[in-house]
Amino acid sequence: MFDTKINAVKYGVTMLTNTMIQEFKRNLHGELIQPGDANYNEARQLYNGMIDKWPRLIARCADVTDVITAVNFGRENNLLIAIRGGGHNGPGLGSCDDGLVIDLSLMKEIEIDPQTRTVRVEPGSTQGEVDEATHAFGLAVPAGIVASTGIAGLTLGGGHGYLARKHGLTIDNLIEADVVLADGTLVTANETQHPDLFWALRGGGGNFGVVTSFVYRAHPVNTVYAGPIFWGIEDAREIMQWYREFLPQAPEELYTFFGLKTMPSVEPFPRELWGKKVCALISCYNGPAEDAAEALRPIHEDLPTPLLNGMAEMPFPTLQSLFDPLLPKGLQWYWKGDFIKELSDEAIEVHLEYAANTPSAKSLMHLYPIDGAVQRVGPNETAWNYRDATWSMVICGIDPDPAKAGELASWAKAYWEAVHPYSMGGAYLNFMMEEGQERIKATYGDNYERLVAVKTQYDPTNLFRVNQNIKPEA
Ligand SMILES: Cc1cc2nc3c(=O)[nH]c(=O)nc-3n(C[C@H](O)[C@H](O)[C@H](O)COP(=O)(O)OP(=O)(O)OC[C@H]3O[C@@H](n4cnc5c(N)ncnc54)[C@H](O)[C@@H]3O)c2cc1C
Repeated sequence: MFDTKINAVKYGVTMLTNTMIQEFKRNLHGELIQPGDANYNEARQLYNGMIDKWPRLIARCADVTDVITAVNFGRENNLLIAIRGGGHNGPGLGSCDDGLVIDLSLMKEIEIDPQTRTVRVEPGSTQGEVDEATHAFGLAVPAGIVASTGIAGLTLGGGHGYLARKHGLTIDNLIEADVVLADGTLVTANETQHPDLFWALRGGGGNFGVVTSFVYRAHPVNTVYAGPIFWGIEDAREIMQWYREFLPQAPEELYTFFGLKTMPSVEPFPRELWGKKVCALISCYNGPAEDAAEALRPIHEDLPTPLLNGMAEMPFPTLQSLFDPLLPKGLQWYWKGDFIKELSDEAIEVHLEYAANTPSAKSLMHLYPIDGAVQRVGPNETAWNYRDATWSMVICGIDPDPAKAGELASWAKAYWEAVHPYSMGGAYLNFMMEEGQERIKATYGDNYERLVAVKTQYDPTNLFRVNQNIKPEA
């Protein structure tokens, strides 16, 4: 049945005639989806069920030519343009109301050169698809920790995950990107061609154009020793205090992040622990098993007996998709982040207070390490400024029930307000809702002015503004 809300969609600034739309559609090798089409509702849905946007047109591009066609059509008709990779963005910046969504989800080619250990990836690929493809060659590209995340948005925001301490952020492994600019031209950005654009793409988000391929450096990664270890929340203070000392001297092959959570009430978690408030250290050791045992020895020797030890040897893609079943598409998400240099006793008390009052079983706080190789890149070498942080913190209110949206947001905001004074000021771009210009400036620090200059050069009319927006000079 035709959804009445679709009728309520206001159309773009320029009146689009049916002829114009049909011609646009004919020019695409992919698909053009409109309100009223059978797959419109499925196509407009985002990963975050809290965000409900109603685009005028969704251009599912099949290739670079389609992207150029879509950018030109959007610009010539004054349409608001959103760029969608994996659709995982927290505030839903992969879509827009009334405008044109350039949906890249059909563009999934991944080419691996095992000789040079480089990987060319199209922007509709998920991180899990990249992991599966590279794993066949005993390689991996440093990225995030949930397989369904889009590689494109993750990369453009920075990208941190299990390989970051040893090999850096995703952007630290980006060698080149092909980009369709606001005027519809296609350029290659790397250290020698459009170096300013290449600098800005590494952390500056979707501000500069539509990236149609990324080339990454990959690293030898095969079977890892990895997984979570859980303790009761009553041990969380001791574990956080221990963890802040342990992390800086741990070998870089070991990545251990900290979480305040609730034990999931599903198999394979033991029934007697379901719903219990817990803290966790979730680790990945990329190296020989004997070395893993040595690196993890302090966890077993110094800390109380855990409730559950889920660490095991596993192929890297298995680790990367470990949490996916707990986080299906369509949950309600509200998240807030900050960069953290030191974890003080006072900050730990705030964390414990809010962990005791989570609004739902899925709500969580994670501290992701970004030391080691991430810190060996200078703060102005890429747009990603906070190279001296130790952790990227995220607070997430998460639940399947839309009726809980307000409660999830209130908890996350109050938690963040209370703990923010112990942070460095800015947040990881990919862990922000729409929080205003001051927050974006705080995140880029003294890289902001250069980002404005690059934006002004490459997108002077701010065609690409559905993002954590860097405004061009007037
Ligand atoms: C469950 C979950 C786990 C996560 N874990 C991690 C993690 O471990 N590490 C981490 O670093 N991040 C993580 N993230 C955050 C993630 O990096 C962001 O949500 C990111 O925006 C997802 O990218 P996407 O392509 O799926 O997003 P989309 O919603 O498709 O796009 C987001 C934005 O990226 C830009 N964009 C996307 N594709 C392009 C393109 N081809 N060209 C230009 N601009 C583009 C656009 O501005 C768009 O608004 C996680 C997110 C979720 C939901």
